[in-house]
This record gives sequence, structure tokens and C-alpha cells, in this order.
Amino acid sequence: MDVGLENRTEVLIVGAGVIGASAALALAKSGHDVLVLDRNSGIGDGSTGASAGVIRVHASDAQSSALADDALSVWNNWREFLGADESEDLARFVRCGSLILDTGNGFADQAAAAMSGAGVAFDKWTLADMSGHFPYFDFHRFGPPRSVDDEAFWAEPTEFLRGGLYTSQSGYVGDPTLAAVNLMRAAQRAGARLRLSATVVSFDFEGDRVVGVTLGDGITLRAEAVLVAAGPHTDRLIRGIGATADFRIRTRRIREELIHVPAPSGLDLALQGVHLVDGDLNINFRPERGDAFLVGSNGDRADEQTFIQDPDVFNQLVSADAWERMTLRLARRIPDLGIPRVRMGVVGLYDAAEDWLPIYDRTCYDGLFVAMATSGTQFKTAPIVGELLRYVIETELNGRDHTTEPFRSPVSDRAYSTAQFSRLRAPREDQSRG
Ligand SMILES: Cc1cc2nc3c(=O)[nH]c(=O)nc-3n(C[C@H](O)[C@H](O)[C@H](O)COP(=O)(O)OP(=O)(O)OC[C@H]3O[C@@H](n4cnc5c(N)ncnc54)[C@H](O)[C@@H]3O)c2cc1C
Repeated sequence: MDVGLENRTEVLIVGAGVIGASAALALAKSGHDVLVLDRNSGIGDGSTGASAGVIRVHASDAQSSALADDALSVWNNWREFLGADESEDLARFVRCGSLILDTGNGFADQAAAAMSGAGVAFDKWTLADMSGHFPYFDFHRFGPPRSVDDEAFWAEPTEFLRGGLYTSQSGYVGDPTLAAVNLMRAAQRAGARLRLSATVVSFDFEGDRVVGVTLGDGITLRAEAVLVAAGPHTDRLIRGIGATADFRIRTRRIREELIHVPAPSGLDLALQGVHLVDGDLNINFRPERGDAFLVGSNGDRADEQTFIQDPDVFNQLVSADAWERMTLRLARRIPDLGIPRVRMGVVGLYDAAEDWLPIYDRTCYDGLFVAMATSGTQFKTAPIVGELLRYVIETELNGRDHTTEPFRSPVSDRAYSTAQFSRLRAPREDQSRG
């Protein structure tokens, strides 16, 4: 088919989730001609829409913590960053703080070392500090995490946790889809174009170079660079053309459930809420508005994970098992919690690498780039990741290897090694998903 001029683009982005939208904004601001495609009829309706939207600055390594810290300053200045006027409805960052319970399994120590390495502020809290700030929690040690069918789960606890790490600057964005819409609107103001209900079915080549894509309706679009930011669909999309052949990192799709549990009456979470990372019970939760908790799993091996082969085929309803497990665990930490009758929540897919770090890289094909394995941590970093992807694409299009030069944060003096996000890295063994 003859490709008309209107079908030529400099950078084509597959996926209008929070990552694709952020990359579109950074590239368009930098003067590139950008077209974003999404198979859905709305922006941010993929895994972004299922996200808990937690924006916390702790991580397993210093660079990830620094990236989150840089992104946090963007979330705190969202309107200014987007260049949005007062009439635009924007996603809101709610600062509620984040507390990691120190269960003695090394996770809190690792997070403390990472934050110290990144120059990120945090407080070490004793048991008395924790009880003073959040008297509605029972800080007994209930762990290690157990099945609720295990009699030991119900045993009376005898010991208390020893303390925790608190970052007062952390919080959440309650409407992740709106955040992606905000990014895309800003990208469009900067000149990016968007085509919804447009499904990419194949990539077009000239030799070993990807030169465009073909859509489900047969339309062919040409581009100098194609960035695939298709969330849980990315692996399947690029595997078919052999683009994962040289990857040293394996990725997989994991079904994740977040449940919605009303807070005890009289507890105002707008004032007293916190994001709690509870490795003792293998849950983490944040306030949902002022009157409920949004609860997810920490991914401890004690709980089975559900791996999904086809990202279009998975049960999208909250399961009775997850519901029971998470509400009962939450009820151990919050003795006044009532067990609700209605099962409410959201189910989504994590697209995760075996070492829980994302892949932001080119592929073995010139012109083809990926932003994948972002779950469940990269919503928070998305505003900076867009800039990082711009850097990767620009550097490679200029014939240089992006991993040999640092990416400079646009909001701080920090320099980042993009080798950490390479498809060719050796999987890190010290990473955790939380
Ligand atoms: C349950 C859950 C909880 C999470 N909680 C947090 C959290 O608290 N904090 C945090 O930082 N991160 C969290 N994450 C991770 C974060 O939400 C994701 O990393 C992020 O939203 C991924 O965005 P994305 O743009 O890469 O992917 P997506 O949002 O999935 O977007 C990909 C887009 O690509 C489109 N697409 C797919 N295939 C095609 C195709 N063939 N052609 C055209 N378009 C296509 C899809 O329609 C979709 O819109 C969570 C994730 C999940 C699932």
C-alpha cells in the first residue's frame, strides 16, 4: 500500500497509558512529531486504570528511590508541569505518608540503605512512635504471613514489631486514569497527535529496521522510531517478530487484585490515613478517600501468584479467596475493622520482570523501542520516565548507545544510568517488588 505523507511520523507510540502519554509529552515538548495509538476508545484504560496510584519514595535500590523522589516533585507541581490552565480537571496527589513496618526480614534495612544512597529523607520510628501516630493499628507481630486457613493465623500474638521507616512526603494519586489523560492532553498541546481505537497488529520492516506499524484495519503508518508502551500486551506484541530474542530478562503477566474495605466508623482517613507496607501480613494499603482502605498484596511467596498467558483472557472479578485473605489480614492489624458484606475492588495485570525492574530500552531492531515490565511500581515514576524514554530514543537515533551516557533528571541534578533498565542486564537478585 502506498503510504501517504499524513501517515508518516517521527515517533510512533503504541499505548496511551501513563507511560506512553508521558513519553509523548516529553518527545513533543522536545520538538518531535509524535503520534500515539491505542486500541481502546479511552486514554489510560489499560493497567494504568487498575493502578493503586501509590507514590512512595522507598525502593530496593538507590536509583529507583531517586527516580521516585524526582517524580514526586512533579506530582507536587502537577498543573505547572503540564502547563494546564485552571479550568482543566487534574489528578491530585494526596500526601498521606508511607510507613514500612520493620519485620526483621531485611526489607526495611534495604529500603533505608536505598533512600540514604539516594539522599531521600526518611525517619526511623520506634514502636512507640508508630503507636503514637496511628493508635488504630495493632502493632503486634502476626507474621510470618500465613494462609487464613492456617490455625496459626488466629493465634494470639505475644510480641510487638520493633519499629518502622516513615516517609512523610509519600502519598497517592486517587485517579490514575485522569493522570494519564492529563499527560496526553499536555502532549497534544505540545503538538502530539492521538488515534484511539487503533490496534497495532504488526510491525513493518526495511531490512532489520522497523519503519512503521500496520493497524487492524490494514492502515500502514510509517515512523523513524516506534516505542511500544503497551503494558501487559508489549511482550506478546514484540515476541512475535523476534524482538525479545536477545533479552536477558524474562517478563511475565501476574493477576493482581486490589480490594476496597470501608474504614471503621469514626476513623477519618483524610486526617489519620497512611500508606502502610505490612510485610508481617503480606498486605499493603492506602486510604481511599476519607472512609476506606485500598488493599493489595506485597507479593510474599506465602501467597500463590496467578500468571496469565494471554493478557486479554483473565478473570476481572475480585475473587472470594483474595477478598477473604486481605480483609482478614487487615482486620488483624485494625481490630475495629468490620468485615463488609459487599465484595468490591479492582483487578489488573502486572507486567513484571523477574527482577522487578522495568525495561526502558531499544530492541535488537533499529527503530524499535520498548517501555515494559513497569508493574507495579512505575505509575509513580511515569512523569520522569517519559523524559528518560525521550533520552533513550534521541540518543539511539543519533547513533549512540544510551547506556554509556547518563540520563540527567530534568528536575534535579541527579544523573541516572539507563543500563539499570536495559533488556541486556543480568537480572538483579536483590530486588523486591515493594
Ligand atoms: C493492580 C495494579 C496496582 C498498581 N499499583 C501501583 C502503585 O500503587 N504505584 C505505582 O507506581 N504503580 C502501580 N502499578 C503499576 C502501574 O500502574 C503500571 O506500571 C503503569 O500503569 C503501566 O502503564 P503503561 O502505560 O505502561 O501500561 P498500560 O496502562 O497498560 O497502557 C498500555 C496501553 O497500550 C494499549 N495497547 C495494548 N496493546 C495494543 C495494541 N496492539 N495496539 C494499540 N494499543 C495497544 C492498551 O490499550 C493500553 O491503553 C500497579 C499496577 C497494577 C496492575
